[in-house]
Amino acid sequence: MLDADFFRRWMTATAASVDREAERLTALDSPIGDADHGSNLQRGFTAVTAVLQKENPDTPGAVLVLAGRQLISTVGGASGPLYGTLLRRTGKALGDDAEVGEEQLAEALRAGVDAVMALGGAAPGDKTMIDALVPAVEALGDSFTAARTAAEQGALATTPMQARKGRASYLGERSIGHQDPGATSAALLVAGLAEAAG
Ligand code: ADP
Ligand code: MG
Ligand code: MG
Repeated sequence: MLDADFFRRWMTATAASVDREAERLTALDSPIGDADHGSNLQRGFTAVTAVLQKENPDTPGAVLVLAGRQLISTVGGASGPLYGTLLRRTGKALGDDAEVGEEQLAEALRAGVDAVMALGGAAPGDKTMIDALVPAVEALGDSFTAARTAAEQGALATTPMQARKGRASYLGERSIGHQDPGATSAALLVAGLAEAAG
């Protein structure tokens, strides 16, 4: 079973990898965006770890709802409301159980990813974070490490795609040949889950 501490570790691990990879995420956002994705998420996840420490929520659902709310309020840019919605909706789906099962988490994350697709209108193949998140949720039924691998492969698979959503879509065919920054950070988020699972 996964307790609130597991979800705190997930957020802390993600914050650490976003810190480590911030320059790379911003560099990916340079040719097909506005070169701020790394700094956007760094600001967001730094605020997430701070608010979790301060408020110390005691259920898995409360950890994710608080983290999501914090991302929405601190990240300017498309990714803030999208990642915020992902975590908030996933947290709401977990309810107020003190511990949740892996299957319950997989189902809740599916609801979270569905909410991101509803909010942003992106589908698989549109060259967004969805291209890492959808395969990750599908593989989560197997294991956390399978989900991490699926998310990483999903991020790599965005390179030949033409962007149909977000800032990169303004470039049309010129968006082809670049890995999507949001799909890359989504893979870090999923890797954080595997890390929390140890
Ligand atoms: P901004 O484009 O506002 O500067 P970021 O650079 O932080 O925001 O985030 C860009 C990432 O957000 C993209 O690489 C993409 O993965 C994701 N994204 C943008 N629009 C959408 C959308 N409508 N649906 C899903 N993901 C999106
Ligand atoms: Mg950007
Ligand atoms: Mg921006």
